[in-house]
Amino acid sequence: RLTHYSNIRSESVKVLIRCRPFSHRELASSSSKCVDLLLSSGIVRLLSPIKNKRRICRIFRFDSIYDDYHKTDQIFTESVQPLVLAATINGYSGTIFAYGQTGSGKSWTMTGCSCSSEKGLISKAIEHVFDLINYHESIDPLKINEKKNSDAFNRQSFQDLKILDNNNNSEITNFEKFMVKCAYLEIYNEELRDLLFKSDHRHQKLEIRENSLNGVCVTNLTWHQVQTSDECSKFKRQGDLQRSIASTQMNSDSSRSHTMFCILIEHTTFTTSNEKHRLVRLGKLNFVDLAGSERQTKTGCSAQRLFESAKINLSLSALNKVISSLVDGKSKHIPYRDSKLTRLLQDSVGGTTKTIMIACISPSEDNYEETLCTLRYASRTK
Ligand code: ADP
Repeated sequence: RLTHYSNIRSESVKVLIRCRPFSHRELASSSSKCVDLLLSSGIVRLLSPIKNKRRICRIFRFDSIYDDYHKTDQIFTESVQPLVLAATINGYSGTIFAYGQTGSGKSWTMTGCSCSSEKGLISKAIEHVFDLINYHESIDPLKINEKKNSDAFNRQSFQDLKILDNNNNSEITNFEKFMVKCAYLEIYNEELRDLLFKSDHRHQKLEIRENSLNGVCVTNLTWHQVQTSDECSKFKRQGDLQRSIASTQMNSDSSRSHTMFCILIEHTTFTTSNEKHRLVRLGKLNFVDLAGSERQTKTGCSAQRLFESAKINLSLSALNKVISSLVDGKSKHIPYRDSKLTRLLQDSVGGTTKTIMIACISPSEDNYEETLCTLRYASRTK
């Protein structure tokens, strides 16, 4: 299917394909390559296995395509970095999804792998947020008397803050200050879990609430204020560990849950001429590593796996409907309420926000059916 993107709204949603290298197992079984990537035109050709001396070639088109030799670095620089900049400096919201069957490279793309020095998109984004902050704060005249005012800046909010110049005690004009917080949650069987809870919050239930003032929020979710990229990355690792402990305790497979790592950036610009003026921009970045999209066959599958699978299908198809109705721009009703995932992302997908869907695929003919489903899902997103 060839899709032409004339609709300007689709600019806010970008769909990328990332094809991982052959795994050792696929190489050992000498399976052939079923995808042909035409990078410059954004076209993926998918070749079916030969049946009755015939094979079908399906054509899909996307915004960008990354082959097995492309590094996460390149995806970050070309596609994610602009979104991180918009969230950190201009108060935009951006959401990055990784979609695909288990083993297709979602975690490699989002988090990276301990077996490789290649960093994931989340680490790269965290570093970039703090690079931008350090740069903006370093051109800030406040630096000269930072020590003097450090107490004031440790406050949660910048209200009532008055900064005085070291030399003449007059008020400083035009400077910027940032505050960063992170949270990490998991959705398993349509239930939310805080992956960064404080010990006294352990058993508190997370609920999604909406109100006209604050939009969508999750009650009892723990937000941690962070001062450096190392501190923020540490929370990400802590959440990953918590996730694997919880899945072992519950005898569940962690690929059967969605995770969402959120970074909130409060950027305050102070300008004082005659009148004092304070402008606060709130940016948000969500990194969503979706549950494996593979279908479960009824045979040989436990009741728990079938139940998980039904919940995953429900949320993945709800997400697809929400994004495609936003892109097509004609639907009056956007079905956010159909799943926890879409309810949670209600104010982070659509409107002025930017969304990137990274659909991860295997190159091997062994995974042909699942790759076909992933490419269909990803092309329906636009
Ligand atoms: P998923 O999160 O989709 O289940 P993973 O990210 O864990 O899949 O990837 C499965 C395996 O495939 C990884 O352990 C890694 O060895 C390999 N892999 C995935 N993507 C890449 C890549 N871009 N380059 C090299 N190896 C990759």
